[in-house]
Amino acid sequence: MRVDEHLEKLGNQLDGIDQQLLVLLNERARIAAAIGQRRESLGLPTYDPAREKRKLAELTKQNPGPVDNARLERLFEEIAEVPHEKQRTEGKRQLLVSRKTKSEDTVVRVKDAVIGGSAHVLVAGPCSVESREQMRAVAAAMKSVGLNVLRGGAFKPRTSPYDFQGLGREGLKLLKEVADEFEMVTISEIMSPSQLEYAAEYIDVIQIGARNMQNFDLLKAAGQMNMPVLLKRGIAATLDEFVYAAEYVMAGGNERVMLIERGIRTYEKWTRNTLDISAVPLLKQETHLPVLVDVSHSTGRKDILLPCAKAALAAGADGIMVEVHPEPQAALSDSGQQIDIGQFRAFWSGLSGSGLFKRCT
Ligand code: PEP
Ligand code: MN
Repeated sequence: MRVDEHLEKLGNQLDGIDQQLLVLLNERARIAAAIGQRRESLGLPTYDPAREKRKLAELTKQNPGPVDNARLERLFEEIAEVPHEKQRTEGKRQLLVSRKTKSEDTVVRVKDAVIGGSAHVLVAGPCSVESREQMRAVAAAMKSVGLNVLRGGAFKPRTSPYDFQGLGREGLKLLKEVADEFEMVTISEIMSPSQLEYAAEYIDVIQIGARNMQNFDLLKAAGQMNMPVLLKRGIAATLDEFVYAAEYVMAGGNERVMLIERGIRTYEKWTRNTLDISAVPLLKQETHLPVLVDVSHSTGRKDILLPCAKAALAAGADGIMVEVHPEPQAALSDSGQQIDIGQFRAFWSGLSGSGLFKRCT
């Protein structure tokens, strides 16, 4: 039953306008989002409040009515909020390290080593490079079981300035000599952008240590390098901070970034740090980067390395790091936690025999 023809017509007109508004509102939101993205890529804040204010003043000046200006302002404020609302509900800016940006696992290839993907890596070597004989002893033991990623610190971030600070550039040279002899890949910590300038002469992978995880100049400089970076989690860093530190390196254009959980400081005293196993699946889930676990600096002990390494692999880690020294009791740094060659062999047979460690084929 038709109540009133005129009324019906007006109702239909209103419905038509609402349909148009729906199209226009969505079209507007799409364009506003594109502006936001463009502004973000130019490093500008996504929202330009001054522009919004000017536009609103213009619109109220042109307003023919009958909608009053106060209402118009409220409506436009609401409308302009649409893309920002969306951004808020979708969360923060999408990071380069994020799985959302790149769904496949990043695989870092360096010489004969492959880190990430389907195989595991065991990185071993002394805390500090001390001598050629020391490095050769560890390298030979590793090589005899087919392991080829050798670590050794030349620049040591020591708590006390009176403790052994590392052999510096000489240490890098020794590391390279021994690695060349045994055809191995090397990882060593770099502490400052100035050291990075010659790092590529000697080492294959730059390690950024826990104490430097938020050394932003170093992260930026490492981002400019054409070398893989192994980034350690800071001593008390949240995963958010860890991931942002990796983002610094990637934002500089360096895509070969690897993360390594090395324990965080808690109240627990039975271990040097607390190995955060949950970090492994979380980092694997949220980022596409290889994730390793340093069982030596996290536990600070020699007796629970194997179960911790197994736990790391079971949790999805791409590799393990362990400190090995031919004579741990005489080591110039971290003497309490380094295992000797015999213990290393036992550790390796336990790990490789566990069925958890997948070798590169
Ligand atoms: C190291 O690996 O030699 C080291 C100093 O570790 P971290 O930065 O994790 O303390
Ligand atoms: Mn150490």
